[in-house]
Amino acid sequence: MNPTRGEGLQTLERFLPRAGTSYAQGRNFVPGVVSGLSPYLRHRLITEAEVVAAVLQQHSPNEAEKFIQEICWRTYWKGWLELRPQVWLEYLHDLQTLRAGMKSEPAMHHLVQKAENGMTGIGCLDAWVSELRQTGYLHNHVRMWFASIWVHTLRLPWQLGADFFMRYLLDGDPASNTLSWRWVCGLQTQGKVYLATAENIERFTDGCHAPHGLLAREAPPIKGPVTLHPPLPLARPDHHIQGEKTALLVTEEDLLPEDWDIPPRDITTIFLVNTADAYPGIGELPVAWKQKSLEGTAERLAAEFQCPVLSLEGGIESIASRLHGLLRDHGAQSLSIMSPPVGPTHGVIVPMLSELAGERFHLRRLRRSWDQAFWPHATHGFFKLKERIPSVLKQLSSITSSMSDR
Ligand SMILES: Cc1cc2nc3c(=O)[nH]c(=O)nc-3n(C[C@H](O)[C@H](O)[C@H](O)COP(=O)(O)OP(=O)(O)OC[C@H]3O[C@@H](n4cnc5c(N)ncnc54)[C@H](O)[C@@H]3O)c2cc1C
Repeated sequence: MNPTRGEGLQTLERFLPRAGTSYAQGRNFVPGVVSGLSPYLRHRLITEAEVVAAVLQQHSPNEAEKFIQEICWRTYWKGWLELRPQVWLEYLHDLQTLRAGMKSEPAMHHLVQKAENGMTGIGCLDAWVSELRQTGYLHNHVRMWFASIWVHTLRLPWQLGADFFMRYLLDGDPASNTLSWRWVCGLQTQGKVYLATAENIERFTDGCHAPHGLLAREAPPIKGPVTLHPPLPLARPDHHIQGEKTALLVTEEDLLPEDWDIPPRDITTIFLVNTADAYPGIGELPVAWKQKSLEGTAERLAAEFQCPVLSLEGGIESIASRLHGLLRDHGAQSLSIMSPPVGPTHGVIVPMLSELAGERFHLRRLRRSWDQAFWPHATHGFFKLKERIPSVLKQLSSITSSMSDR
């Protein structure tokens, strides 16, 4: 799997004929009919908007309904967490506490090690561990079974399982991952716990795995934290001011600045920053993927834009100390960034920029119209956002066509 935009677009192209009823009927089977687009969408080498637009060119809204809904699950989780950043901070805090307490819990420590090394004796789980470590990918249904076995059968803390996924998945995402694990535990949708059964696994893996007698048969509710944070208001995004000379700061959260609605003549420089190590312990495979995707993006942008494209090396503190001088040297009045959503990149980049900006330069925190249109509907369950999909898509397509008319 090549971490470039070109490869993402080809993956989409190959998948398009199956994005209609084939997907709806086949998506739950393993390997089944799925797109494999998640690492590209996760890093916005391709966008939800262009994927949905391409799908709707080949299928009616009815045929493509299921696939579009799944794309919107990602959007929903992103919006839900954006409105409740505290849930991410709590996860990080719990993780730290659990890791620190591991010494005094040797039995748990031993079991976590067995699970992470694929030595539990539960054949399907052990096989999925090795698949995850080797490929950085697991099918959605497998992720659900995996999380259920981890939490309900092995009785391990969900945070350690979510962390294992974050360290190995190429598409590891603070929102989709954390909130899906919480959902399996019954912490996300009150009173709804997900319990994997041997029968279901046998059916949807076509008999490849049949862990009869090995899995928990019931799932008592997992103890807190059942977070009932009310949704915070969404911070208002900035917009590019026509004619303002601006430098772009590109991170792994959005590798498609061609699509940021800033005319190339206003862009003085493009800086790229690698934030892969902002998530502690992240594995070699995702680190290499992120590194290569940044390199590929730098090459693509250098060919597309007339301005310098520079990868800023040397850690956040060193970048912070050089940033003001760099902006001045490149004649930029402002720095524009596609505002990183809640997660590790946000955790390192946003405090640094907020501290520097103000007197020294203008910081323009942008948001994609897709997120701006959908996220306010992520206040409650997915159903509320799902209902809005047709009207939001209509609203977005009128924005897109009025932009292309300009
Ligand atoms: C415990 C658990 C952890 C997960 N962790 C992540 C994660 O870290 N990053 C991540 O991107 N997804 C995560 N998911 C969601 C989902 O499993 C993956 O997005 C999907 O398997 C990616 O494969 P695909 O691109 O072939 O999906 P397809 O079925 O082809 O779907 C197309 C796109 O829709 C989105 N999507 C599909 N299903 C879901 C879903 N259930 N939730 C959110 N978005 C979805 C993804 O962007 C995906 O690329 C997790 C699910 C579970 C149950």
